Amino acid sequence: MTFAIHGLPVARGIAIGRAVLMGGRVDVAHYFIEPHQIEAEIERVRAGRNAVIDEIHRLQHTISGMGPKEAPHELSALLDVHLMILQDEDLIDGIRHWIRDRLYNAEWALTTQLEQLSRQFDDMEDEYLRERKADLEQVTERILRYMKGVATPVAPSRRSSQPRQQDLLLADDSIDVPLVLVAHDLSPADMLQFKQSVFAGFVTDVGGKTSHTAILARSMDIPAVVGARSASQLVRQDDWVIIDGDEGVMIVDPSPIILAEYGFKQRQAELERGRLMRLRHTPAITIDGQKVELLANIEMPEDAAAALAAGAVGVGLFRSEFLFMNRKGHLPDEDEQYAAYKRAIEGMQGLPVTIRTVDVGADKPLDDLQRDEAHLNPALGLRAIRWSLADPAMFLTQLRAILRAAAHGKVNLLIPMLAHASEIRQTLSLLDFARAELDNRGVAYGTLQLGAMIEIPAAALTLRTFLKYFDFLSIGTNDLIQYTLAIDRADESVAHLYDPLHPAVLQLVANTIAECNAQGKGVSVCGEMAGDTQLTRLLLGLGLRSFSMHPAQILAVKQEVLRADAGRLERWAHEVVEAEDPAALLGAA
Ligand code: PEP
Ligand code: MG
Repeated sequence: MTFAIHGLPVARGIAIGRAVLMGGRVDVAHYFIEPHQIEAEIERVRAGRNAVIDEIHRLQHTISGMGPKEAPHELSALLDVHLMILQDEDLIDGIRHWIRDRLYNAEWALTTQLEQLSRQFDDMEDEYLRERKADLEQVTERILRYMKGVATPVAPSRRSSQPRQQDLLLADDSIDVPLVLVAHDLSPADMLQFKQSVFAGFVTDVGGKTSHTAILARSMDIPAVVGARSASQLVRQDDWVIIDGDEGVMIVDPSPIILAEYGFKQRQAELERGRLMRLRHTPAITIDGQKVELLANIEMPEDAAAALAAGAVGVGLFRSEFLFMNRKGHLPDEDEQYAAYKRAIEGMQGLPVTIRTVDVGADKPLDDLQRDEAHLNPALGLRAIRWSLADPAMFLTQLRAILRAAAHGKVNLLIPMLAHASEIRQTLSLLDFARAELDNRGVAYGTLQLGAMIEIPAAALTLRTFLKYFDFLSIGTNDLIQYTLAIDRADESVAHLYDPLHPAVLQLVANTIAECNAQGKGVSVCGEMAGDTQLTRLLLGLGLRSFSMHPAQILAVKQEVLRADAGRLERWAHEVVEAEDPAALLGAA
């Protein structure tokens, strides 16, 4: 039966494919194997299952010699049940299907089958049988534990690009069916693992439009919907689904008519992308001759290729924290960071690269181990520059690596989440210290332009201090909105109140742009507002000439720039900022 689930649209486009439900087991490796690895993967699970069967047999043997006190009857009954589950061919057949037909790695196939069977158990009338679900989970856990102790023989692989809707209608059960990931939640670290992967779209139950998970989905340029509440409960493994990333809707089990309609939309979107690609080499200049800088936001050095392909004239925000994620506590050392920054600089072929120092914390834990459940308000806690200043050795390592990389190209250093003059002074003296350390070691380094992010209202209200110390400012609207309006950007339950057009937000943004322009200092917007085509004219009217966004958004924003007359937008833009309801005036330019 066809039904729709509504959420928040975060990354444009339409995806049509089979649902891959990601349960709570993100600690299990998820990757696709090559066809020649199928038999070896099936063998790995079989070996795991047989090892657990042997273990249970040994246990049975041990307890058979014990009295009822040490080994109650329930224990041996439980072991019998576990054996029964392990020997049930349904379990192994199902796992074989996920490995053979979907090319899932062994652990992923096992947990997927567990989920499938768990749902069947949930639907059972008989309470005794329903409760056997827990046994199934325990058995799976044992097999996983055994497999963890045995080296994984295959390496994660990528699958090639996805076929389109018309292909999949013809080849429904082929291994090339597009896959759409449906999960309760995905941390940015999880998303990073999927960045190079095969998924044609994402849906999560939780998350706001500018949560870091949503930002990563946008950077992957695949349709995504977050805040879809109970999507992961309502969708079943392998259901056909459509994700409409423009409208924020997921359609489950679509009828042929709906499929055809969305197939058409998908083709239209592809045509539009093709059309925009023609603007790639066109300079971003308004009708009245104002030059506008369109920069890219990147997460990894390899993203430089997408930035260049989209015609970016530099990187306005390299979120360096993504180099620090999924490392199980082993942070990258100076040489590793230096090599990564150098790769990004070289990847940009002489164009400037703005490297932001690490911004972990809040909704960006380093990995699942570091999720901050201890603090009530992690977004107000030890995050970004506060985290760096709390660990000077770590911060100095990063500063030295960036300074060394700056010898290879034009590099700007950007500091996140500053609010206090004392933090600025501490940061600058650590930067001096890092330089002195490199001098002592006789290591070459380059010069840097120094920038601060304006993303806390306190910073936006004390611009004089910031302009005294920094060469340029970059407005992080994602956090500026969060902290001005006291709205958790990652919480879908207050997402309707997260408003980039709130007059208070607009006043802080307008004022920052005006102050920088008046003092001849560089100013850019690198939050999601910069990539929103509905806001391009407003920001141009406010005097902004530097926008930094995901590569996938650059050409659409460029189209807006080419159509705009910046001089004529000025008065209107200031009226919008002064209005009680700015959104009502937005379409009136
Ligand atoms: C911002 O806050 O707008 C920003 C660009 O930084 P991040 O999204 O990484 O917090
Ligand atoms: Mg921020």
